[in-house]
Amino acid sequence: MPTYLHCAPPLALAAVLGRRRVPAGLLLAGVAASIVPDVDMLNVWYAGVRYNTLLGHRGLTHSIGFAVALGLLAALAARRCGWRRGIAFVFIALSTVSHPLLDLLTDRGIGTALFYPLTAQRVTLPWRPLPLAGAGLFGAARFWLECAWIGLPLLAFAGIGAALRRWFDRIRPGAGWT
Ligand SMILES: [Zn+2]
Repeated sequence: MPTYLHCAPPLALAAVLGRRRVPAGLLLAGVAASIVPDVDMLNVWYAGVRYNTLLGHRGLTHSIGFAVALGLLAALAARRCGWRRGIAFVFIALSTVSHPLLDLLTDRGIGTALFYPLTAQRVTLPWRPLPLAGAGLFGAARFWLECAWIGLPLLAFAGIGAALRRWFDRIRPGAGWT
């Protein structure tokens, strides 16, 4: 896992969509959703589940199916929380799936079950710029590596996206994107 920047994608996405569409509560839920897939480590540590099974690390909770399920829960809770339903679904689903996508950038060999429930096959990328062995899990080297490969691209995405959104809101002021 990236150690420091799992929460960066929801922050960047919120910057693009703006505070009107992503209020503080939804942003907090997105940050939580970007971290929650690693809850599967509890299965490994405390329930004796094998690391490379569906309920083990980088299995079910690191899949598109899990992200869609959390997005649907957010959509169900949207009215009560004062969120726009469509935006809540997309924001939480994307925040959740960003976690396994960032995990794929690390060189841990196990891969993620990204396409579950279509298949439980673990997938890896041929290009993995975040070494776990070389830079370690914590420390300055690790932090700067994540800034380079995750932080900077997301900063560019947030800046360009926010500028486009402001322009779009100016020419279509009523658009709520529900
Ligand atoms: Zn993970």
